Amino acid sequence: MTQRIFNSAVLKEKAMQIRRDILRSLVAAGSGHTGGSLGMADVFTMLYFHVMNHRPEMPDWPDRDRLILSAGHIAPVLYTTLAHAGYFPLDELLTLRKAGSRLQGHPSRGSGLPGLEVSSGSLGQGLSVATGLALAARIDGKTWRVYCILGDGELQEGSVWEAAMSAAHHRLGRLIAIIDRNRLQIDGNTEHVMRLEPLAEKWQAFGWKVYTVNGHDFSAMNQVFSQLDDCGDVPVVIIANTLMGKGVGMIENDYRWHGKAPGAGELPHFLESLEKSYAQVNQSTHENE
Ligand SMILES: [Mg+2]
Repeated sequence: MTQRIFNSAVLKEKAMQIRRDILRSLVAAGSGHTGGSLGMADVFTMLYFHVMNHRPEMPDWPDRDRLILSAGHIAPVLYTTLAHAGYFPLDELLTLRKAGSRLQGHPSRGSGLPGLEVSSGSLGQGLSVATGLALAARIDGKTWRVYCILGDGELQEGSVWEAAMSAAHHRLGRLIAIIDRNRLQIDGNTEHVMRLEPLAEKWQAFGWKVYTVNGHDFSAMNQVFSQLDDCGDVPVVIIANTLMGKGVGMIENDYRWHGKAPGAGELPHFLESLEKSYAQVNQSTHENE
């Protein structure tokens, strides 16, 4: 499935539905990672509903683009996006983190969930997996792409930079890393815990083509993704500036919501906040048209 006609209003509405269902699944689970999942809902919507070449009805289609969620703890946004894309029923989202569920707290390939490419959650490993996949595709003469989602705090893992060096060395132009640059990690601000800046310059020095984009602006993201065909054999990193908890005003930009789920009593307030936020976003869409 590839939706070629860009429509930001449709994408915004889809992202709102995905955020709503992320919250519902987290409440049903009673635990999980709310902040990053909400923060990346727009990027995931952009990928699965506009950018990626994939077929939900045929999850193992050999020519599909692959998405590797290196920051495995934000699994709720991956699961919810996959369900909305049609990989499995929406009802299954309410089994998040339950014993025997295909929706484990961190992605488990062995669970058999359609659309899930690899187990992840041990931070710092996904870019190496993605690099290997991109290298395999090139050896096989394939043109599919590999998208790898990394947290910004995750970049403090040294193995990320081994993979970055390797991907540039092997000139893997069909590898696209996307960094969830919310400037927060489990213990606070990334720049206080272990400084990442100047981040764009670091990736450039490793031989990558770097884009920086507002990860909540579909039109801006579309402009970046539209340029990927021109990157030749240079791997691409997109630094997506995001807001942890985006859409639920009372938890936005609060690192304490990295790994905490709302309680059932909080859900109505969170959903109300989400509705308000969407109404504002929707209004701005119409004003810009
Ligand atoms: Mg972060």
